[in-house]
Amino acid sequence: MYDLELERVVSEIKKREADKVLLQLPDGMRPFAYQLVDAIEKSTEATVFLSGDSCYGACDIALTQAKQLDVDLIVHYGHTPMVKHPEMPVIYVHASIDVNVDKMVEEVLPSLSEYKVIGLTTTVQHTHQVDEMKRKLEEKRVNVQVGKGTGKTPLDGQILGCSYMTAINIMDKVDVYLYIGGGRFHPTGIVMSTGKPVIVANPYNGQISKISEDDLMDVAKRRVAAVTVARNAKKFGILVSSKPGQNNFEKAVELQKGLKEQGKEAVIIYMDEIKADHVNNYSEPEILVNTACPRIAIDGIDGIDRPMLTINETEVVLGTRTWESLWGNSYME
Ligand code: SF4
Repeated sequence: MYDLELERVVSEIKKREADKVLLQLPDGMRPFAYQLVDAIEKSTEATVFLSGDSCYGACDIALTQAKQLDVDLIVHYGHTPMVKHPEMPVIYVHASIDVNVDKMVEEVLPSLSEYKVIGLTTTVQHTHQVDEMKRKLEEKRVNVQVGKGTGKTPLDGQILGCSYMTAINIMDKVDVYLYIGGGRFHPTGIVMSTGKPVIVANPYNGQISKISEDDLMDVAKRRVAAVTVARNAKKFGILVSSKPGQNNFEKAVELQKGLKEQGKEAVIIYMDEIKADHVNNYSEPEILVNTACPRIAIDGIDGIDRPMLTINETEVVLGTRTWESLWGNSYME
């Protein structure tokens, strides 16, 4: 169960004397929305609106909606701050979830036995227990390293789909990473960014699994194929998202210039969310360059009918980066 931090949220709304509040919740938390609105409105004078658009990360702060609704405050659940100076006060609530650390440690220990040093990583929902996890693993004689919080991941051990600096910063010291969390999205990024294997301890279903570099061969083949096709392509569409933490307009202009200097045709296509229906109607570009969330290009969007590159992969096409400097080494940064 998420820690909704209702007391803190109510206290902040009162302290700031906010009359109107915009509540942003990731999809997984939306079943709690009415409960939250009701609790906030009963405890404060504020009127609460729900943002109905995407809330994929802290990159996705609903500033435009907030301005249109003329709210005094955004309450954003599920992420840590990413946008440096949002033009609107924002309260971030981590939406922490407690893990049974003793049980998790017992279950994962056999999978760690062949490694000397492990790097502990997790998402914001579990970072409040990183110290406890480290301590309990050390009690079992496991040598644990935790990367210091930095940049887009301010909490120790925290990783994001687009930033693995806490893992990268300790990669020379560890043999394997232990990722606490659900799904393959984040641990796949760890392997792409460090080249090291990852043991996944899923606290939601109790399953322990492993992602190794072999598992990533499919991803690597797809990425290399996209770069290879792009080298010979003539027409490029450079996608720019207006989402505050995904907007890379200046980089898009730089890539456009580089592509044009190589005799390619490149046009910037500006939008909020990158959706297949909208993009596919631009049928002329053979290659799409995605300057928004890098995972859109790597993991793909259903229905996109052409190869799509990340910024870094486009720089490989331009010759300003090498593929070797990316794969297993800062792929997303
Ligand atoms: S840019 Fe992508 S991976 Fe990064 S926080 Fe936003 S949605 Fe998540």
